[in-house]
Amino acid sequence: MEIWGWILIVGVCTLVAIWFMYPGWKLEPFVVSLRADAAAAAADKPGEWVLGATDHQVRVGNVCRVLQSFADPELAGAVVEIVDASCESGLPHTIGTNRIRIPESAWNSSAERRQGILRHERVHLLQRRDPAAWEAFYRDVWQYTTHAEPPTALRAANIRGNPDTFPHRWACWKGRYWFVPVYAEGPNIRLQDASVRIWDAVAGTWLDEPPYEWRTAFCDERGRCPHQSEHPAEISAEYVTDLDTWTTPAAMSLRRFFSQFNF
Ligand SMILES: [Zn+2]
Repeated sequence: MEIWGWILIVGVCTLVAIWFMYPGWKLEPFVVSLRADAAAAAADKPGEWVLGATDHQVRVGNVCRVLQSFADPELAGAVVEIVDASCESGLPHTIGTNRIRIPESAWNSSAERRQGILRHERVHLLQRRDPAAWEAFYRDVWQYTTHAEPPTALRAANIRGNPDTFPHRWACWKGRYWFVPVYAEGPNIRLQDASVRIWDAVAGTWLDEPPYEWRTAFCDERGRCPHQSEHPAEISAEYVTDLDTWTTPAAMSLRRFFSQFNF
């Protein structure tokens, strides 16, 4: 009887030891499910960059769980998070100074597109890491000022929020032209259904085309202009992604400014 007692004690101790030595058997699924719950709760919270009723509505059903994450091999301290395909309606974006979020759908496209996305989003992190340098460049060289608050005339406009230009999201060129992504009218509007319009603060009217003077600085001779002209942070990210192909005066000055980043 005594020997069976000892065998029982040793057996139980061995099982307990194995239980703790391999936390994956017991603790890990529990921890993972807790993490998933926290991520799901965070995913349901609207981003702080979301602006108004339409801007909320277009994001209903978007989920931003982190499916995979890894350190960015090109930009120190940055983390790339692959998130649900619906996150920010499938548009890659950045949060803070370190996080690049790429929806699964965009990540699974092509290697070339992935590289383009990463390069573009890294520029947004560089902008947030050194806002004073970028704002001085926008102001002194490109003649843009950026603002945390809109002018009164734009408060009621149906504008799309953008995580990559937050918090100084309002951009004014030459103290007169405010470039803003405005949602289309009508039912079933999506996040992608916004186009850049220009509020002329002096004339008090909307322009559908940027002024001629702006185009001579930012577009090339063949009429190719930055696609996302809503903010100098987007224009510069777009230029840097394809810097060799842009020959506009604005791209040339950006090249000189950007060389300091060794990127
Ligand atoms: Zn961007």
